[in-house]
Amino acid sequence: MDRMLIVSNRLPFTVQERKGELQIEPSVGGLATGLSSWYKSLNSVWIGWPGIGRKKMKREKDILAKLLSENCHPVSISQQDVEAHYNGLCNRTIWPLFHHFPLYTEYDEHFWQAYERVNIAFANVVAGVAKPDDMIWVHDYHLMLLPKLLRERMPKATVGFFLHIPFPSFEIFRLLPWRNQILEGLVGADLVGFHTYDYAGHFLESVHRLLGHEAAMGQITVADRIVRTDAFPMGINYERYSSVDRDPRAQAERKRFRRKLGDCRVILSVDRLDYTKGIPQRLEAFSALLDRNPSLKRRVILVLLVVPSRIRVEQYMQLKKQVDGLVGEINGKHGTIGWMPVWYLYRSLPFHSLTALYSLADVALVTPLRDGMNLVAKEYVAARIDEKGVLILSETAGAAQELGEAIIINANNREEIVQALARALEMPEQEQIERNRVMQKRLRRYDVVRWADEFMDKLLYTKELQRQMAEKVLTDEMQRRLAGDFQKSTGALLLLDYDGTLVPFSPKPADAMPGADLLRLLERLTKRPANEVVLISGRDKETLDKWFGDLGVGLVAEHGAWTRKRGGEWETIETLASEWKNEVYPILESWVDRTPGSFIEEKEFSLVWHYRRANPKLGELRARELINSLSNTTANLNLQVLEGSQVVEVKNAGINKGRAALRWISGQDWDFILAIGDDWTDEDTFQVLPPPAWSIKIGFGASAARFSLGSPGEAVSLLARMAGER
Ligand code: UDP
Repeated sequence: MDRMLIVSNRLPFTVQERKGELQIEPSVGGLATGLSSWYKSLNSVWIGWPGIGRKKMKREKDILAKLLSENCHPVSISQQDVEAHYNGLCNRTIWPLFHHFPLYTEYDEHFWQAYERVNIAFANVVAGVAKPDDMIWVHDYHLMLLPKLLRERMPKATVGFFLHIPFPSFEIFRLLPWRNQILEGLVGADLVGFHTYDYAGHFLESVHRLLGHEAAMGQITVADRIVRTDAFPMGINYERYSSVDRDPRAQAERKRFRRKLGDCRVILSVDRLDYTKGIPQRLEAFSALLDRNPSLKRRVILVLLVVPSRIRVEQYMQLKKQVDGLVGEINGKHGTIGWMPVWYLYRSLPFHSLTALYSLADVALVTPLRDGMNLVAKEYVAARIDEKGVLILSETAGAAQELGEAIIINANNREEIVQALARALEMPEQEQIERNRVMQKRLRRYDVVRWADEFMDKLLYTKELQRQMAEKVLTDEMQRRLAGDFQKSTGALLLLDYDGTLVPFSPKPADAMPGADLLRLLERLTKRPANEVVLISGRDKETLDKWFGDLGVGLVAEHGAWTRKRGGEWETIETLASEWKNEVYPILESWVDRTPGSFIEEKEFSLVWHYRRANPKLGELRARELINSLSNTTANLNLQVLEGSQVVEVKNAGINKGRAALRWISGQDWDFILAIGDDWTDEDTFQVLPPPAWSIKIGFGASAARFSLGSPGEAVSLLARMAGER
């Protein structure tokens, strides 16, 4: 395997200053601990911030040597930039916004500038360390500009990016002043991974609406590159959590806890102190449970483990006060001598204590308001080797998409949490076991190593797709050969699609008229009597006549319903009915009414519903509905319903561009044939070409064409070269 470079804000080792001396210690946190064994098993290097400012690092050559001996390369950042990057843009802007807390979000240009500087500092270190065949895996919201910065420095690099927090919906994401820079940064990667399909969908929508890139089926086309997105729900180190019965320290700790808790049932809550975690809502629900069920008094304890976090950010200080207050209130209101309903631990527990708590808790109450994944939920299930215990999990945690056997609740619905708690405390053991068994099987299979492996496989697959596409690209050398063949030929046929091939799409079809240069070029190509140029379009014949009528080119209108040979009259291939339009038109009209921005184009033998100018999400949804609805109407009318580039077209069955193209192909013995097109309607043309013909698809999707080019501009410059203009 090639070498792997993992890049994250923090290294898996942190440099700490203790009694004036610098020391290195393993970092805590999901990514560092989850991936540390995996990364050691590979030929890997980790790049990140070592937890200490630039000045101090300089003093300690030994620390640097020690980090390097662990294959860790530190990125040196000034203390001010750490402050404005991490405590500023990361935790006061991106964290709240991406978790759907716009009111907590601060927009500060100084934070942004530091974010850019830190990303550039990372890019410089990575570029210095990376070799051409390395795979680079960038992690999380601290480094969203990095993929693009790396692409600029190393255009061919293999770069994956994984976001560990949610990606917000478009309406929230668009609030960010630097939204386009963030998206451009991310699409510098080859693969962008998220915990869930919902987050990936939000990202694709933002890319489409803000950057205008085509994005479908998890694939984005950025200039001449494709970028893939996908969901990779992060797993845990299952073995580590499920070996609690083999860990004597965890066993001893469990006994100690049990002695203190007596025979009370235990509800466990574990989080960092963060407003996204819904801790106050959880406490209120617990209080309501006690209000409503006095019989639970003295019989149940909520163990509330809160890990201090971001203590210098205002909202976190306020939250701390609120949680302290609520705990005091509940214990004051419900507690008795010898029974304290909430056991409040405001600190971080070591691994063996945490797993001891997991293994004895009857219920784990995991109710974040929004959470990218939530590892605590998974760790709890893994640690229950007796298969007992009940997980209550909020639907807005990414983990809920995998742990459907938990009791799933809406974290804002107190009543639902109260009922879930009552139900969990009464759940028969057999039911607990059945639910946990399924979840454990899933978590064991899809653990953190599998997660990382799948991400890597997908990254390599994306590179392979890019390679296959690059192989199809008509190189300069091939273009020269093509132009030479054309110029030598004694009978050349050019079959050219128009929209998306010779001109880019524009929001209004009427605006995409040919410019004077294009008309001159087409004229030059038709000058030689041995050449025949045919424009094969989906447009109506009046438009084609108006634009190209005087040029001496052959014309095909309405995807083949009409043809006109050079100097001839318009002919239809067969007698086509068009009465069906009276039935279909009103249906399309009702779709126009329901989809602002959409409109109908009427051609002689077809009707087209365009939604390019409508809201893209709504347009796609309505298109699906329209196709469904039309399939009922058109079943016995000999019609076909086709989906094109932001259009739904209804036309007579049996018409296609390929059939029309054959009229020219079979009409003469050509020694040069070239077909160029950009969408599925042109595939029919590509398919009827005889083997030696040249065929070119504009864009990088799957195609029967032998070659590809990136844009209409490139197609036009190829034609110019053929005409001897270049
Ligand atoms: N954790 C810990 N010590 C503690 C409490 C929690 O190491 O005292 C760990 C816990 O095992 C989990 C992580 O902190 O792996 C929290 O991850 P999660 O995805 O639930 O939330 P995040 O903090 O990433 O938002």
